[in-house]
Parts: sequence; C-alpha cells; structure tokens
Amino acid sequence: MKKYNFYSGPAILPQEVFEQASKAVLELDNIGMSLIEISHRSKEFVSVLDEAKQHVKDLLQLDDDQQVLFMQGGASLQFCIIPYNLLNEHETAAYLETGVWAKKAIKEAKLFGNVQVVASSADKNFNFIPKEYVVPGTAKYFHITTNNTIYGSQLQEMPVSPVPLIADMSSDIFSRPVTGSKFDMIYAGAQKNMGTAGVTLVVVRESLLGKVKRQIPTILDYRTHIKEGSLFNTPCTFAIYVSMLTLRWIKKMGGLEAMQKMNEEKAMKLYNEIDSNPLFTGVIAKEDRSRMNVTFTINKPEFEDAFANAAKDAGCVGIKGHRSVGGFRASIYNAMPMEGIDVLVGVMREFAVKNG
Ligand SMILES: *Cc1c(COP(=O)(O)O)cnc(C)c1O
Repeated sequence: MKKYNFYSGPAILPQEVFEQASKAVLELDNIGMSLIEISHRSKEFVSVLDEAKQHVKDLLQLDDDQQVLFMQGGASLQFCIIPYNLLNEHETAAYLETGVWAKKAIKEAKLFGNVQVVASSADKNFNFIPKEYVVPGTAKYFHITTNNTIYGSQLQEMPVSPVPLIADMSSDIFSRPVTGSKFDMIYAGAQKNMGTAGVTLVVVRESLLGKVKRQIPTILDYRTHIKEGSLFNTPCTFAIYVSMLTLRWIKKMGGLEAMQKMNEEKAMKLYNEIDSNPLFTGVIAKEDRSRMNVTFTINKPEFEDAFANAAKDAGCVGIKGHRSVGGFRASIYNAMPMEGIDVLVGVMREFAVKNG
C-alpha cells in the first residue's frame, strides 16, 4: 500500500532523489566507487559540494559577500554558535519568540549576552505571529523563526530590521521565493525540506564576523568554515549529496515560484477541509497559517485515537501532533504530492460522516 509521509522531519523527499541517492551509494556517476567511500577532497565530491552551493546562491539570490556553508550539529548548534560568534557579553540581541525552537535559540543566546524578546505569542500558546513590535537599533542582530514547525505558524511577510537579520528557516527553506540578500544569516537543518539529516545549511555575511572579544574554538568559528570551504573537517558527504539532488530537483521543477504555487494549493485544500468539516478546527490564526505544517484538533477528543488510526489505515503516517501540543499536524513539504493531500482530506470527510 502506498504510504504518505506527513512526519515533520526527517521528512518526505522526492522519489527521484531517493532513487538517485541510492544509486550513488552503490556507484557515483560511473567512477567505479561509492559516493560514501570517496574522499571529501576528491574532485568528484568537491564538484558535488560546488554544485550544491551554486544552487543555494541561485535559488536564494545571494550577494557576493554571503557565504554558503554546510555544517554539522543541526540547527540546534546554530542556536548556540550564532551568539557565540556575534554577541559580546554586555551586548543585546533581539529575538522574536514564536515557538519552541525560538525559545531554544533564546536560551542559548542568554549564555553569551543579553536577550531582548521584542514580542512573544507564548501566552496564547504560540497560535499567532506577533506583528507589532520595535527592534531596537542598538541590538547586535534580530533573530526570527520563519516557520514554526511544532505549532504550524509561518511568517507571511519578512520583517524589515534596522539591525542584521538572522533567520532559522529549517522548516520552510526553499518552499517559497525568499530574497536571501535581505538576510545577514540564514540557517536550516536539511532534514525537513532540503535533504536528509546530518547537514545544516548556513548562509552568513562575512562582514558580521570577527567582532566579538571572546576566543572561539576553531571548529565553532564560522570563519574557519568559510576559509576551508566547508571542508575543515570531514563533512557529512552523503547528506550534502542528497541536498544537492533535492536542490537540483527544485530547479528542474521550476524553482521557488513553482514550489510556492504547489505548496499554496496543497495547503489551501487542507485548510479548506479543516474549516468546512464540522469535526476539525485549525489551531493557528488564519493569516499566520503555515504552508508547511498544518495543525488542527478534533472537536470530539474521544475520537482522537480513532482518527489517527483511520488516517494510518489509509496510508497517511505521521499526522500526530508534536508531543508538546497534541492534536494533529500534517507536514506537507515540497515533496508531498497533491495525491497525499487528497487521501488525507478523504479520510477526514469519511470520518466526519461516520462520527460527526
Ligand atoms: C527541526 C527544527 C530545528 C532543530 O533542528 P535540528 O537540526 O534537529 O537541530 C530548529 N528550528 C526549527 C524551526 C526546526 O523545525
């Protein structure tokens, strides 16, 4: 039976990426060796890395002083090394608190300097994106989370910031057009919308670096990775390859405009069902709803498990909400076909007819 993967991450990828990646594990491009045994400094792997970087630059429309890095440690390591590299002890960084991941980023920044939370939706269980706030011009940087994977909210417009703008785009990178040159840093764990777990994309403007007073261990210093072209130590070669294939696929499909169009259509179909079906309710303020992670609850909580099972029986896996919020969450990243949405909508309709 066909399965549709609605998990939030590691997540669905295009079928052709799975096929090409598995072929490369056996043999990369007729070179007589596997992708995962060749040196990370071989010309074959360096060409993979260069191609991946070029796709990122093209898709995000980056400036020349924005460096593209492939790092390890997940988005979670970035929470820590961003303030480590950018924030002196008595300086302040501004953060927008829109969910669990933002909170984790804030927690780490407080280890290194002062944090000013310019706005928060914590008191409403993060069910909306705050829009009325002022970012102080004295802050070292302003940090946002463009898509809140757990709650299912998303910034529909990027803020204009008087100070360097830094974005955690882990769960919506490459899902819609973004003018990357408007950001001073962008980072994203690959395992949601651009590849497999093990690599983190980092885009950083070089002019931000080298200004903190503290000593930075070599491997945690962005300048090391820039200087070494993401080859300071052995990078996650397989994960970088899978990201490269996914980026190639995005371009082939028509780029970020095409991704956005598909993602809007998929999300609207699912939200329309949530809004018209008497058994389900959306969790997030309508104008802030995520196109990537669609969260909803069932109006008769006694049917929660039965609905989860009905969805599973129809091939929809991974729709249980995050353990910290409950309810349901359908993650519908770039690679989720419309067919998957149709199957889920069908289950919701049928379930409401039987149990509404
Ligand atoms: C998943 C996620 C993270 C954490 O990513 P790791 O790669 O597991 O460290 C951070 N931010 C957001 C928005 C996420 O969705």
